[in-house]
Amino acid sequence: MDVHIVRHPLVEDVLAALRDRRTSCDVFRQLSRRVSVLLVAEATRDLPLTEATVETPLEPTTVRRLAARVVAVPVLRAGLGMLDGFLELVPQAQVGYFGLERDETTAVARRYYEKVPKDLADAVVFLLDPMLATGGSAAMAIEGLSDLGARRVRLLSIVAAPEGIALLRSAAPDASVYTAAVDRGLNDRKFILPGLGDFGDRLFGT
Ligand code: URA
Repeated sequence: MDVHIVRHPLVEDVLAALRDRRTSCDVFRQLSRRVSVLLVAEATRDLPLTEATVETPLEPTTVRRLAARVVAVPVLRAGLGMLDGFLELVPQAQVGYFGLERDETTAVARRYYEKVPKDLADAVVFLLDPMLATGGSAAMAIEGLSDLGARRVRLLSIVAAPEGIALLRSAAPDASVYTAAVDRGLNDRKFILPGLGDFGDRLFGT
């Protein structure tokens, strides 16, 4: 499994503010969108292009347009914080949803909702899940997408834990992970340290 750590001064700067517990909910939302744009730019670097012709105001010229069908699948609810940033860069993307809920005490994920475009086999599928903690929910979502035909799912996460990466390496070896940071590890409640806290709560002010 490929793991891409997106290193960029702008990513570092956004992460610094996201990590800060004093960052308010509205600013947290803007920052999540901004860091997602940077991750998406990296994760779409190798998408295929096809040649076409357009007329500039002066003459016809050959151009290259995106040739991939792109599907973005945010994991509810925290993944919604990455969707606007994704669509800013790939506005033609189709969007599916996976509802996964993690049990507060056992940290085990449960799938409660699924609405995903059909025929994923010919699409490039991006799973949006900002916190790759134990990897349980990401593995469950990737398995669900694979069952629907998706190949080589690309997971975009803002912060990852080594434990989550290790789990995906065995559970989803064909997937790729794009993340802004790999943190130290998980605490006994399966939160990432130092992490960002509960992403969904900080995003939605709950
Ligand atoms: N989910 C979160 O929102 N934060 C973590 O640290 C781990 C999982």
